[in-house]
Amino acid sequence: MRTGILLLIILLLSDLQLSAQENVFESGISKSLSKHVRLLASDQMMGREAGGPGELPASRYIEEVFKVYKIAPGINGTYVQKFKFNDGAQLGDYNMLTADTLKFKLFDDFNPMSESAALLTKGKLLQVGFGIISAENDYDDYKDFTYDDLDRKIFVIELSSPDGIHPHSKYSAVSGLTSKIEQAVRKGAVGIIFVNSDENLDDPDAKLQRDIRPYDIPIIFAKGNAAKIIKADKGDRVFTMRVDINREEKTGTNIIAVIDNKADNSILIGAHYDHLGFGSEGSLERGKGKVVHNGADDNASGVALMLELAKYLKASGSKSYNYYFVAFTGEEKGLLGSNYYVKNPAIANDALSFMLNFDMVGRLQRTDPVLIINGVGTAKEFESLVNNTSQDNFRITTTESGIGPSDHTSFYLENVPVLHFFSGTHEDYHKSTDDFEKINFKGIVDIGHYMIDLINRTDASKKLEFVKTKDENIFKAPKFTVTLGVVPDYAFSEEGMRIDGVTEGKSASAAGMIKGDVVIKLGNYSVRDMTTYMEALSKFKKGDSTTVTFKREGKTKTSKIQF
Ligand SMILES: [Zn+2]
Repeated sequence: MRTGILLLIILLLSDLQLSAQENVFESGISKSLSKHVRLLASDQMMGREAGGPGELPASRYIEEVFKVYKIAPGINGTYVQKFKFNDGAQLGDYNMLTADTLKFKLFDDFNPMSESAALLTKGKLLQVGFGIISAENDYDDYKDFTYDDLDRKIFVIELSSPDGIHPHSKYSAVSGLTSKIEQAVRKGAVGIIFVNSDENLDDPDAKLQRDIRPYDIPIIFAKGNAAKIIKADKGDRVFTMRVDINREEKTGTNIIAVIDNKADNSILIGAHYDHLGFGSEGSLERGKGKVVHNGADDNASGVALMLELAKYLKASGSKSYNYYFVAFTGEEKGLLGSNYYVKNPAIANDALSFMLNFDMVGRLQRTDPVLIINGVGTAKEFESLVNNTSQDNFRITTTESGIGPSDHTSFYLENVPVLHFFSGTHEDYHKSTDDFEKINFKGIVDIGHYMIDLINRTDASKKLEFVKTKDENIFKAPKFTVTLGVVPDYAFSEEGMRIDGVTEGKSASAAGMIKGDVVIKLGNYSVRDMTTYMEALSKFKKGDSTTVTFKREGKTKTSKIQF
């Protein structure tokens, strides 16, 4: 299959070679643009999921096009920048729960929880109620147990609390999963079986979450008949728990090319080439099972525009800048490729005059076309530049913020002026119907003309002046009443929540926190990962003050913080 795809790429490229002279932005013919989109959005590319089977042929195609267009390798003499990332957790084949000779059934009777280690343990059960200790309520589920009672036991813990799980519960500070697990671990549990006898409380999601950091013991949820047997157990049977979870480390690939004109200043043009594979996390498709998501608009369109601009800039002889081109992977999984790139750049971030991001440029409306430009507030010069650039074929709407759900955010957080170009959302967004046939190629050509005019209108003799924007905080999930005013680093895989940017005037900046700090505790709540960070945030309301514990350059620090 793989050779088949590479053969296909070679066939398409031989055709491209013939048309390497033809330039879409001079001829207005969109032949090579549509060729890129047709191929990148074909079923053979398997949805181009980062770390998935379609990443290799897609990245190879982009690399080969750069070669055909005679654009040089952009980083350490190569086009390829690889990096490792955590790609969630899948159940393995060996999940088991037995009581003496009684065998329980996976899914029907129990399921491993995202917090679980991949481990086997044996022990007798100990019923520890809600597993809660709350000094302020004079409540302690562990108070009657001796050290021997607790030693080497699998704890059975109710998910709920003495007064339920709701915002006004007296126990909400200690009834979260994290608190209960950490309490049990401190008390010496060798495993945990959660049960749920509270009719008002939903069972935990059986789907394993990718951003939860596991503990060192097996943790499962038991239900139905199994839960009945487990809750009735007096500690006279030996239970065996085996949890098998594969936490997969995958490799992502960015493709980087450069036109080095030995100019004083450089700009970077980027577009992500990854998409959702067969409808992984992020798909809005409902009830169709696994189906290939071709991502023609998102974002084969942006990659095609970037490739043709590269060809144009190479051929035009415009030597005003050095031009870096990056096809990012992992955008759909949380800006992974651009996040890795800015931390391992081909050219120092502060040497960039500005960055242009094309993400979804293929659906310009045919009647009343509108191009959306985000990030116009990120350089002093942008607003007049955007307004003065000729735009005969569409209207323009702009937003100020440098933070948005695409790769320009990674550059903005490094103080690089950014513009994100976007032809608007549509009903096929993140669905299997985002296909080649629906792309407006003349629209992409029009946007390309606009890009060329915009680049030509900038003063290449000096860098644009970066401006921090007031950020519409898109990362703020509506169910939380408070935020820290930070942008988390979603690619951070060690313990804690690393801050990738601090919003001025908000809680974290007032507490003296800076980019790079790793939050490990909010009040009494441990922050182990994004999930526990959000869980911790949800415990506070506006006006509350507490302490935040974080790591900076290996040292642990504590600050007072007010929400
Ligand atoms: Zn996209």
